[in-house]
Amino acid sequence: MMAPLSPGSRIGILGGGQLGAMLAGAASEMGFESHIYAPESNSPAFQRSGTSICKPYEDLESLARFAESVDVLSYEFENVPIEPLRHIERLVPIRPGISALETAQDRLIEKRFLQKVGVPLAQFCAVESSDDLVASVQELGLPCVLKTRRFGYDGKGQIILRSTSDVPNAFEALGGNPCVLEAFVPFFAETSVIAARGMDGQVASYEMALNHHENHILKTTRLPSGLPSGILTEATVASEAILRHLDYVGVMGIEFFVSGTPEQPTLLVNEIAPRVHNSGHWTQDGALIDQFEQHIRAIAGWPLGDGKHHSNVVMTNLIGEDMDGWHGLAADPCSRVHLYGKGESRPGRKMGHVNTVSAKP
Ligand code: AMP
Repeated sequence: MMAPLSPGSRIGILGGGQLGAMLAGAASEMGFESHIYAPESNSPAFQRSGTSICKPYEDLESLARFAESVDVLSYEFENVPIEPLRHIERLVPIRPGISALETAQDRLIEKRFLQKVGVPLAQFCAVESSDDLVASVQELGLPCVLKTRRFGYDGKGQIILRSTSDVPNAFEALGGNPCVLEAFVPFFAETSVIAARGMDGQVASYEMALNHHENHILKTTRLPSGLPSGILTEATVASEAILRHLDYVGVMGIEFFVSGTPEQPTLLVNEIAPRVHNSGHWTQDGALIDQFEQHIRAIAGWPLGDGKHHSNVVMTNLIGEDMDGWHGLAADPCSRVHLYGKGESRPGRKMGHVNTVSAKP
């Protein structure tokens, strides 16, 4: 195992969104230099890093120079193109590794991996054509959810099939791309665990939080979740098994559905995100070591924080014009406002978040 990176070392991050910005901030707080590589010139993370390179990921020469200029490389989004990473993997340690990205970028690979780990998930079928879809709907029954294998997020790239009349056009409506069909989960709660694994194999998880979505976009994350302790333990055990099987280093978000009844809940893994996660933003004001520092600690070979929370938190995303209320939000003595420095607010765009904190009883 490599020695831990000492302060002053250089942390490279691919991707310039708010997650990259908050990772860069955490790295600076720990005495590291943060270097960002992203293709968009107005990337929020450029404002918070010492060095930034604005080039496409496919510019292999620039990417290789970037890789050689840092001591470890990480990423803030799961759709980093794999081929350019293969080109630079001999130049710098990439944490989490490429295999975590390959797993999370393709829903079919992800689900087969989760089956292998042995965690519970909804029944699914691979769908390569409209004919496959007809057969798969017969197998899983209606309702069910058709999702593109790649590039789906915030409800994009998926269709709920409720009746037989929804079936004939669904595959083409998703562009004729390879898909998976999932059984519909009649969940009463959506939750997530933010878990971290260090270079020494140490694992630390934050407590599972309750997520509420509006228009398919995360609106609030609440801790405590109010769910029974048995299910919190089950989610933590499942999450930690996922990290171990990937030989993962860094922070991961694992999303779950909870179905059944609050008295007899059943947990199913929905998907994994091999990066810091929006539903982990509560940790900035509810835990001593937040998910951003935890990720930097992990990839730098430092000891992990323990993940305990010291306060209860409701994290609310500021989406589009929600941000206009920043002044009133900042006036609440129990709230801390985090804004991303994005110039233009558009409907559906995450502009910031606010953590409202209360004492743990
Ligand atoms: P995903 O992109 O897979 O996280 O899906 C986005 C949202 O669609 C989820 O947060 C759920 O609200 C809903 N959804 C996805 N898959 C299913 C499913 N199999 N059953 C019921 N709802 C689902």
